[in-house]
Amino acid sequence: MSTYDVAVIGAGPGGYVAAIKLAQHGKKVVLFEKNFLGGTCTNVGCIPTKALLTSAHLYSEIMEKSTQLGINVEKVSFDFPTIMSHMRKVVQMSQKGIEYLLKKNGVEVVFKEAVVLSPNQVKAADKIFEARNLVIATGSTPTIVPPFNEVPGIWTSDDVFKMNELPKSVLIVGGGVIGIELATFFSALRVPVAIVELMPHILPTEEKEAAEVVAKVLKRRGVEIYEQSKVTAVEITKDGYLCKIETKNGQVEKAAEKVIVAVGRKPFIPESVKALGLTIEKGIKTDDRMKTSIPNVYAIGDVKGQIMLAHVAMYEAVVAAKNICGEEVRMDYSAVPSVIFSNPEIASVGLKEKDVDPEKVKVFSFPFSANGRARTMLEREGFVKVIADKDSLTILGMTIVGPNATEMIMEGVVAVKNKLNAHQLEQSIHPHPTLAESILGALEGIVEKPIHL
Ligand code: NAD
Repeated sequence: MSTYDVAVIGAGPGGYVAAIKLAQHGKKVVLFEKNFLGGTCTNVGCIPTKALLTSAHLYSEIMEKSTQLGINVEKVSFDFPTIMSHMRKVVQMSQKGIEYLLKKNGVEVVFKEAVVLSPNQVKAADKIFEARNLVIATGSTPTIVPPFNEVPGIWTSDDVFKMNELPKSVLIVGGGVIGIELATFFSALRVPVAIVELMPHILPTEEKEAAEVVAKVLKRRGVEIYEQSKVTAVEITKDGYLCKIETKNGQVEKAAEKVIVAVGRKPFIPESVKALGLTIEKGIKTDDRMKTSIPNVYAIGDVKGQIMLAHVAMYEAVVAAKNICGEEVRMDYSAVPSVIFSNPEIASVGLKEKDVDPEKVKVFSFPFSANGRARTMLEREGFVKVIADKDSLTILGMTIVGPNATEMIMEGVVAVKNKLNAHQLEQSIHPHPTLAESILGALEGIVEKPIHL
């Protein structure tokens, strides 16, 4: 029997980061993975979608902007197998990168399904591993709701990465993050897309005006968006599927070759972990040090059923690792960025307008149409919105819809996390000409008046 300080189950962004951090602190760590290193994010999530979206984005940039920018491009086309092979190469490179980092830090990796026998014992490949602490990082799986659970061949996001050819048309159920990123990809490659979203607007957790900008661009590309709508029945046809959609204006029928369900994910808790008897609510319940109801068992990432984001899992991993090493560190969820790789991108942090009392805040939106750098890039859509406390001007929230929003949101993250006020940010010189000056514009609007509007 081998003895370890920590056994980590699952090598996604939560598990592999925890394993590395623990090893860096001198712990003897064993990490179990039944599939591939990197989990959902590396293999069927963040990384492959961004690889696909990079191809799609370049294609639409050429199609939509080249003439105006004075570039003559003849016979523009794309080669779908190469798009997919780029995606696969990037996934493999990311797996190899994680493998290298684990090896470099002396983490022992066991590529087998782990069965938890007790809070101190794990069995894998007929071998028993003894560990002082357990970290559960087993992630999540896509949710499939009725009526789709009874229809063969319905796709989830997992299936998209296996496709060998582009579908002739797709109907996406769920206009959340996955639904919109996939709609962005397919519509850029001119595949007819329909989105069916239950809530009053797509991306319901984001600001309504932010979702509206993305909806406008998707519609311009021919995407049909059914909001406040539900698929009530699905029929298999010779060309794919026929969906009955209950919309706010009555019933509609829509045919599509493929139906993709993207209505959320659910924690994956192995039976042997459930048998430990730890408290489970939406997922495995922990305190803010990532400890479960069993003192030496920690849980991180999607398996907790809270915020299912790779960057949150990685942060929770560091918090768990530090606590296992005896440091008193608590998780802080006050400034979790949300990033959506739509076109244009949406990124946000902190409070939204719908969360605040309008009497107690100052809100200012600065449009990208008034930003010089955005004009040079032929980008006119979107805005930066800042929400600040009315008296102290402390930054409470920021939403950016526009080019590179997912990179630019870090200014908002630092501000919200450190409770900075609009004066402090506005007095920081923003380089010219950059898209980030739109953040400055919104801050000027909070403090006094924007110069460029
Ligand atoms: P989600 O929760 O983001 O969106 C699901 C959407 O489906 C919601 O808008 C919801 O209202 C809608 N919905 C639910 N039931 C429905 C029904 N029956 N019919 C129509 N619509 C319905 O979930 P997701 O898009 O599946 O993503 C799963 C998780 O992965 C999320 O936590 C997400 O944040 C994460 N993720 C993040 C990124 C990123 O950070 N860029 C990318 C992809 C996924």
